[in-house]
Amino acid sequence: MLLINPPIVRPCEPPAGIAKLLGTLGKHNVRCRVLDANLEGLMSLLKCPVEADDTWSRRASKHLDSNVSALLHPNLYKHMDRYSRAVNDINHILNLTSRAHGAAVGLANYQNPSLSPLRSSDLIRTSEQPEASPFYGYFMERLSAVFSDEEPSIVGISLNYLSQAIPTFSMIGLIRKLCPDARLVLGGGLVTSWLSNPGWRNPFDGLVDDMVAGPGEGALLDILGLSPSDGHAAPDYSPFREKPYLSPGFVLPYSASSGCYWSRCTFCPEKAEGGSYSPLPVDKSISDIEGLVDSENPCLIHFLDNAMSPALLAAIVDNPPGIPWYGFARINRRLTDPNFCRDLKRSGCVMLKIGLESGNQSVLDALDKGINLAEASMALKNLRDAGIATYVYLLFGTPSETYNEAKATLDYVIGHQEYIGYLNLAIFNMPAYGPDAAGLDTADFYSGDLTLYRQFRHPGGWDRKQVRQFLDREFRRNPAIQAILRRDPPVFTSNHAPFFVMSTEG
Ligand code: SF4
Repeated sequence: MLLINPPIVRPCEPPAGIAKLLGTLGKHNVRCRVLDANLEGLMSLLKCPVEADDTWSRRASKHLDSNVSALLHPNLYKHMDRYSRAVNDINHILNLTSRAHGAAVGLANYQNPSLSPLRSSDLIRTSEQPEASPFYGYFMERLSAVFSDEEPSIVGISLNYLSQAIPTFSMIGLIRKLCPDARLVLGGGLVTSWLSNPGWRNPFDGLVDDMVAGPGEGALLDILGLSPSDGHAAPDYSPFREKPYLSPGFVLPYSASSGCYWSRCTFCPEKAEGGSYSPLPVDKSISDIEGLVDSENPCLIHFLDNAMSPALLAAIVDNPPGIPWYGFARINRRLTDPNFCRDLKRSGCVMLKIGLESGNQSVLDALDKGINLAEASMALKNLRDAGIATYVYLLFGTPSETYNEAKATLDYVIGHQEYIGYLNLAIFNMPAYGPDAAGLDTADFYSGDLTLYRQFRHPGGWDRKQVRQFLDREFRRNPAIQAILRRDPPVFTSNHAPFFVMSTEG
């Protein structure tokens, strides 16, 4: 079997989904190879010759190797200006090399003005013309070599983000030509979202053999005719150990659960997709982490859970992994206890990502966010006092928000500016099949059959245009907000923010 991580996702850590599959398949003695076509594909694009006929392009081209090397060293994360220049220059080279193929590739995005990842017809067309892809040279050479070593009977591709969709279908087209007998299995987060649409009709029949929703381990074992054996298998990162991911050390991504233990926020795609919450027993997570820290020697653990459960946080406090870690946590009463926040810090917590969404209590209540703003204030202060950075996520333009509530969010952030490390600002997209969609006047948002969202008429007249204007003209222009936003690492955002935090800890 061959498992592939397709371009493009931020190439700063190994693919967690594939490591998890590999762990389970290994436990069942299935021989499996992996290909991180994301990291390799991006690196191969960076090696293509570019026409550097302006000052920026000449500088980016000249310093390309040193910029890539610098991202692998902690020193760079002490200097935001040098870091930003390195990242933007690398991105610029990717843009230049992909331009000839009519695409705009970056370290975290893939755009092609004539192809939409939201239209199945475009994805099918992409599969029919793999040679049009900027990654074609790499795909051809690498896949030919992999298939000539040994033709896999099954090729599994992990498609998690829209930025992977077009390159994935280019690759599928090529795999169909080079290895026509392989059974092609497509899974991952984006495929799970597609399949959760109640009206889903598979447009990729004949191109893809199996489409898998949710964790893929069971489906792959089923395809192989194997029954799941008892016991849990830890993820296997051994094939990724020596790869030059763009981080200053090996980052260990780890999921202690799928779904979300809260699962009530009305705006949440996770809830709209109806996936159930499935946590690993915390003692298993702790023993996985201990084993992986021993075998992989990571510099940072990235918890991928939608929200780390209180039980998991408490278990980490009792069993510190011995290296820094970060992840998403919900504001809850435990974080209002300064001693607990100090315990988290002692366990290695360097940063918590927090979905605050709004600084207005009525909006939070309408979203069923389960956050009390007074508790949030205490939690943010306690975390700051304990030395834990916060990456706060805000959501504007929800159905219960109008200008006044958005202004309250601005005031809340200004009032807590010294406690907030980083900010992520997003405009609400209504999940097509979430609870809100049923009660509002909605219409197709994007012209594509694979769209996951719907346009809606805002009940308070607070439409996307006004929200955007508020963000551009008022929110982002506030000096307190600007100071926070300036700290955000471009392109890699929360993936690299912990390294900046760690660089100030000495
Ligand atoms: S806490 Fe996060 S993942 Fe959980 S339901 Fe709310 S938004 Fe979704």
